[in-house]
Amino acid sequence: MTKKQLGIALVGLGKYSTGELAPALEKTTHCKLAGIVTGSEEKAKEWKTKYRLADSGIYNYETFHNIKDNPDIDIVYVVLPNAMHAEYVIKAAEAGKHVICEKPMAVTVEDCERMIRACRDAGVQLAIGYRLHFEPHNQEAMRLGQQQVFGKVKHIKAEFGLAEVEGWRLDKRLAGGGPLMDVGIYCVQAARYTSGMEPIAVTAKEGEKHDQVKFKTVEESISWKLEFPGGLIAESNCSYAADMDLLHVDAENGWFQLSPAYEYEGIKGKSSKGPMQFPQVKEQAAHMDAIAKAILENQNVPVPGEMGKQDVKILEAIYEAARSGKRVEIK
Ligand code: NAD
Repeated sequence: MTKKQLGIALVGLGKYSTGELAPALEKTTHCKLAGIVTGSEEKAKEWKTKYRLADSGIYNYETFHNIKDNPDIDIVYVVLPNAMHAEYVIKAAEAGKHVICEKPMAVTVEDCERMIRACRDAGVQLAIGYRLHFEPHNQEAMRLGQQQVFGKVKHIKAEFGLAEVEGWRLDKRLAGGGPLMDVGIYCVQAARYTSGMEPIAVTAKEGEKHDQVKFKTVEESISWKLEFPGGLIAESNCSYAADMDLLHVDAENGWFQLSPAYEYEGIKGKSSKGPMQFPQVKEQAAHMDAIAKAILENQNVPVPGEMGKQDVKILEAIYEAARSGKRVEIK
């Protein structure tokens, strides 16, 4: 590519796009906000003024396909409810644009495969919204675990929960599931990136529903144990009824911990050697910059679709284990 900076179009201007991604795109080096896709004329007007967008960069869901003719847009970033990711990623690929897709990549492994295939067929790249791969404390946890700085990792505890959740996240048709799809996925990611291994089996249990109306179609909480080769166990718990945010790793000769581990800012870490001293970064800017830089340099993007698909496969196995009460192998 000969461009210096890539144009990103955000699809879906909800909380994450509005509160995090658009402000982050004012801090990026390798990419900038070049377009929006929204069903709301009001938001279109507001964003056009606030971010000085060209008229040609403004789309709604009906005109979205015309994005193929816009040379200012290189990457489409899908920030819609989970069950809508597959449709819009595939449409973006068919329009010849690289794609970033929010987590969870999709609500089924089958959808993930269709998305990967569509991007491959169109010759575009697909990355997932895994911002923590670009956050220094989480990067340190990856280094400490994967390089066995404290010896072999023996046990991982990863917990993430939000006490206040509403809207489509409580609707299985749009969310694909409850807290497991939304926040539990961070625990699965953390277990994978601190161990550097893939889990081979899982057991799981859904928690009691204290509010049958609110949690009519999705779980209120779920806990699970991932088994890794060599006997490592990663124990996790996620919830839509309690705030939790922890990654604790015990290794042969020491331990390390992040808490909070998964927030947008304010991540803190310590280990058996003392506190971690790393700068706070704007995670979303670092995430989008790393992806844009890879595309500009004709390299494979970090946090690719395959990584997203593997997580969805593990999430499906966790649900299956909770449903059946049996140990489920992950192939
Ligand atoms: P949100 O509800 O705030 O925004 C969703 C957007 O989708 C809204 O603008 C809404 O108008 C639009 N939309 C279009 N069709 C819709 C429909 N049929 N039903 C509901 N909304 C519809 O949600 P959000 O918190 O911005 O989350 C969006 C995606 O981003 C989700 O996949 C979520 O998991 C992901 N997310 C990721 C992070 C992260 O840290 N990586 C953080 C928050 C959200």
